[in-house]
Amino acid sequence: MAGHILKNYRLIDLTHKIDSSIPHWDRGCAFKLLQAQDYLDCQGLVKFRAQDFHLRAGLGTHLDAPAHCIPGGRDIASLNLEDLIAPCYVINVTHKIQNPDYFISLADIKEFETKYNPNFKNSLLIAYTGWSQYWYQIDKYRNEDEKGNMHFPGFAVESIRYLLAKGIKGIAIDTLSPDGSHEDFPVHQLMLENGKYIIENVINVELLPEVGALIITLPLNIVNATESPVRMIALIDNSL
Ligand SMILES: [Zn+2]
Repeated sequence: MAGHILKNYRLIDLTHKIDSSIPHWDRGCAFKLLQAQDYLDCQGLVKFRAQDFHLRAGLGTHLDAPAHCIPGGRDIASLNLEDLIAPCYVINVTHKIQNPDYFISLADIKEFETKYNPNFKNSLLIAYTGWSQYWYQIDKYRNEDEKGNMHFPGFAVESIRYLLAKGIKGIAIDTLSPDGSHEDFPVHQLMLENGKYIIENVINVELLPEVGALIITLPLNIVNATESPVRMIALIDNSL
């Protein structure tokens, strides 16, 4: 049955692999894979390797729930599947990021609307900046200045206000944060205080059509978690 359904779609994984070398919001290692018990520890016939993960909740490709910034906001386990499965639009600004401080502007969104006439209500907007090409060059991906402030593309505040008014469900971006170089995180504040979510550090966005993919984003179902790594996939109808 599953095979029957899936043959109608191409599947794209929008998720970075996790290991101890990957970039993170803070410097330093954000992930450790520990052996709680190893094969040779086992007396019985069947040997087990059991592991502990030690990780920051906001690691790799991950989701920020409203509770990340908003006291009393929804936590990860309060997001339901209807929130996490969404049609998506991909806005390509790769030709504009000669300036790493680029903010996706209202003009960019309006240009997209003119071209595609999208219905943003209950959709996910994915920003394709091309920044994920630097993922394995941590210094370049973080792009810190001498004060330690990071510089990479994000969203302009007026774009977020506009998308919220249109009823968007969430936003995703291929950088560490949709705030880009905003120092006071207005994009996080606006999205999360409106009960929406944010997905950061996505990859493979270049493989998506600008219109028509269905996105499934699955965080760990952890009560009171404000962030979680996700497995995020796109289903693209073969006709697209
Ligand atoms: Zn965030």
